[in-house]
Amino acid sequence: MELITKSARETQKLGQNLAADIVSGRLSNTIALSGDLGSGKTTFVQGLAKGLGIAGRIISPTFIIVRKYPINSKDKNSAFKDFYHVDLYRLEGELDKEVFNLGLPYLWSEPQNIIVIEWAEKIQKLIPTGATWIRFEDMGEDKRKIEIK
Ligand code: ADP
Ligand code: MG
Repeated sequence: MELITKSARETQKLGQNLAADIVSGRLSNTIALSGDLGSGKTTFVQGLAKGLGIAGRIISPTFIIVRKYPINSKDKNSAFKDFYHVDLYRLEGELDKEVFNLGLPYLWSEPQNIIVIEWAEKIQKLIPTGATWIRFEDMGEDKRKIEIK
């Protein structure tokens, strides 16, 4: 599916709406985001977090690569417990080793976690096969092309 959003607000809304698809199991618990700086990935994650009922603001992790947020679902039987926001922008060196050191394979193999990864293309081969990929592209001004696979 490919669409174009015309404002940051629209991209947030998209993220917010997709939260329900993750919770229902229609989309994977692992969401891999790709695209250049400023293409809207963090904006999307803010909406996603809101859709998951996470209170407070999602900030772009600057030096911290992984941030954990508890999912305070009103539904006590909810399958999901924690939301992880990962930003690999600053990850360097031997990436496969770093991914292992960060414990990412553990995080995405735990079905109670929802994990969203910015700059996932840096570790494309390591991302689980079933992950949902979302590609962001800056089309100029406030337009962003968003492709969901
Ligand atoms: P990334 O995480 O990909 O680097 P951010 O979400 O941090 O990108 O930044 C996107 C920037 O572009 C923000 O300043 C946001 O307000 C702006 N913007 C303008 N139009 C859009 C849009 N349609 N979707 C998302 N962000 C947009
Ligand atoms: Mg970002």
